Amino acid sequence: NKNQNGNYTVTFIEGDGIGPEISKSVKDIFAAAKTPIEWESVDVTPILKDGKTTIPDEAISSVKKNLVALKGPLATPIGKGHVSLNLTLRRTFNLFANVRPCRSIAGYKTAYDDVDTILIRENTEGEYSGIEHEVVEGVVQSIKLITREASERVLRFAFQHAEAIGQKEVRAVHKATIMKMSDGLFLSTAKEVAKDFPHIRFSAELLDNMTTNPNLYRDILLVMPNLYGDILSDMCAGLIGGLGLTPSGNIGDECSIFEAVHGSAPDIAGMDLANPTALLLSSVMMLQHMGLNSHADKIQKAIFDTLAEGRALTKDLGGSSTRSQFTQAVVSRL
Ligand code: ATP
Ligand code: MG
Repeated sequence: NKNQNGNYTVTFIEGDGIGPEISKSVKDIFAAAKTPIEWESVDVTPILKDGKTTIPDEAISSVKKNLVALKGPLATPIGKGHVSLNLTLRRTFNLFANVRPCRSIAGYKTAYDDVDTILIRENTEGEYSGIEHEVVEGVVQSIKLITREASERVLRFAFQHAEAIGQKEVRAVHKATIMKMSDGLFLSTAKEVAKDFPHIRFSAELLDNMTTNPNLYRDILLVMPNLYGDILSDMCAGLIGGLGLTPSGNIGDECSIFEAVHGSAPDIAGMDLANPTALLLSSVMMLQHMGLNSHADKIQKAIFDTLAEGRALTKDLGGSSTRSQFTQAVVSRL
């Protein structure tokens, strides 16, 4: 909803490590593009509540109120009792689908051209259910939980998203030959949901077959259980030039949180070396999600033109510019 100034308030979680630096790039570029967004910055440093670490209530209420958030990387504190904050956020807001577009960047040469895919990862269950036990000393069990309900929700979202962006083919990625029941249920649910979208081509492919050929990542929307999505989306990021370039959106029933795929990069934090493109493209996805398409297009074009020109590339892309110089180059195009 618009606030009294006629702008949209969006929650901003700047995050750890390189988070504050790349967040500054987003703020500067949004200001230059005169985007009707007002940021509400919240801190998600974990607090102890009833003996468990959790995120502060103010952060939760801010996202619940604004419905949309942009998020920098969060480091998971190492040590007993800490759970991944990213997982906590996904569970708190029931962010059931993780959308990861992956497109080759014009002008930035990699080993494979024309990668153009959207990968949708089930975000709540599967191998990430967190149900593990020691049966006896030396024998452990980890449970991969698959439900028809969560599968149908993410599959239906995948088809609806394909419809919304004019994508003609949806492919379910699975390993139902081995995990006959769990992946079998995901696959049979996919076939059922596909019937409701007769104008979209449906196909299914084995996970291992998807790793053999980069041509499989052209003009297609892929949807898959949690762990497969984790691995294949990092591989896709590698195909187009690395973690500095890939955005994502976590979509829920009510709230959505947009974030870069990469982590907090502690090795380069505070050095003005980080590539802000992944968080910037996540913020572009956020604008598209909010229906602010002209602002999204304008910012996206400025980013892609700066990358294609190649004069202000950051170190991860083989350039010698700092994060600030790259950001300034994008601002000057706006
Ligand atoms: P975390 O524990 O938060 O996941 P990590 O150590 O796994 O952090 P990542 O952030 O996933 O690290 O990054 C892996 C490598 O990629 C690091 O060497 C990092 O410097 C680099 N990297 C990640 N993001 C960026 C970026 N935006 N710009 C430049 N380099 C990056
Ligand atoms: Mg990492």
